[in-house]
Amino acid sequence: MTPATFNEDDRFPSYTGAVNRFGSWTRAKELAGVGETQTVECKGCGERFAHIGKHWNNSSCRWPALSSTQLELLTGVLMGDGTLLRDGTNCCIGIEMANREYLEWLDQRLQPFSTGVKLKHSSSEQLERAKEAPLDPIRNSTVLKPSYLLLTRRSPQLNRFRGWYDTYQKRYPSNLSLTPAIFQQWYCGDGTLNIRAKAANPHATITCKNEQDRAEFITSLFQEVGFEPTHRNGRFVFDVEDTSELLEWAGRAPPGFEYKWADTYKAYTELKPP
Ligand SMILES: [Zn+2]
Repeated sequence: MTPATFNEDDRFPSYTGAVNRFGSWTRAKELAGVGETQTVECKGCGERFAHIGKHWNNSSCRWPALSSTQLELLTGVLMGDGTLLRDGTNCCIGIEMANREYLEWLDQRLQPFSTGVKLKHSSSEQLERAKEAPLDPIRNSTVLKPSYLLLTRRSPQLNRFRGWYDTYQKRYPSNLSLTPAIFQQWYCGDGTLNIRAKAANPHATITCKNEQDRAEFITSLFQEVGFEPTHRNGRFVFDVEDTSELLEWAGRAPPGFEYKWADTYKAYTELKPP
């Protein structure tokens, strides 16, 4: 059987799709250049494992601890677009978005706890979906934009986030305190920079619908670190002065989200991904 052309977007096809197109799952993985399973070295015994979590669970080698910085990053991710996957003894965190550059930056910082950035929905998958809709998919880049997924390994240390889901919706714990790293990831996920061509100065906004009935609590998180947002319908808005100080406090913008740190409309439009 002659394989169809393998595009970058097809690097992680669905199982059935891959078997239909390429004859076998193994062949599909070979063509995608993912035939060889990635292994990770265990610092405890020096050996390499494809499923290192399993090794740490079932041997005398212990799980290495996530650093405090890694936990801050994941706290911020979970406050924004991240999801805690709780279907097992140990939890892991998944984050799906179109911003691959940011996910790859995050992946580096979460090693060895990140399993990498994988294509979740390819452009061609989006195209297939779009074909069934009465749209012109070819010209519509929004429809065709692929999404990517970063998944962490399952770790007992991530079970601390289970309590966020004790009710039917995600809730931040009342003992939470913001740090620059936590806020930075939260802002990448749920933040917006409101900036217009004619208006000179931008306003940062955090949209937090899941906590709009706890506006005082969210406001207090910012007050503790010296900022005073105003609240309306789950949106926490910072004035011009606070915006500038808040974004400086949050530190340098992660790759892929520089536009949310822009200080002019020109910079914003140049930095924003299409
Ligand atoms: Zn080991």
